[in-house]
Amino acid sequence: MNNPLSYVFILSCFTDFVKEAARPSYWVSDQEISECHGCKKTFTPVMSRHHCRACGQGFCHVCSDHQRAVPSRGWYHPVRVCQSCNLRKGDL
Ligand SMILES: [Zn+2]
Ligand SMILES: [Zn+2]
Repeated sequence: MNNPLSYVFILSCFTDFVKEAARPSYWVSDQEISECHGCKKTFTPVMSRHHCRACGQGFCHVCSDHQRAVPSRGWYHPVRVCQSCNLRKGDL
């Protein structure tokens, strides 16, 4: 492989793959998240998207600033959830 560009291409495919493999399938993909599911604020490239571990939607950090266990998704310790999932009664 003498072409440096093809090396960069393979490397970026690899990191994308690792990123995808690390996330649960019920999560909405980052590409589909253009605004916060809670406050509807539009995401800018510098804002980080957070996923609610219960509903899988994308939220800004303000709207996902809650911690709860979500046994139905396999999370048995407190993890990030959105405001509306946080208000749900009983086990998530
Ligand atoms: Zn928000
Ligand atoms: Zn949620």
